[in-house]
Amino acid sequence: MAKKFACGDVVDGCAWSVTSKDEKELFQKISEHAKNAHKMSTIPDEVIQKVKSKIKDV
Ligand SMILES: [Zn+2]
Repeated sequence: MAKKFACGDVVDGCAWSVTSKDEKELFQKISEHAKNAHKMSTIPDEVIQKVKSKIKDV
């Protein structure tokens, strides 16, 4: 099952979203986006937990 994440669920006002075939690939894309768009070179644990709670099966 594919996984989908919308950044706006965690970061107010961000319109970016991503769909991937699995959670591992999804997190790679999320960390790239976090680095480029939100200046997070590493993602804090609390943000990862929030992200995980918002991931949807599609
Ligand atoms: Zn974002």
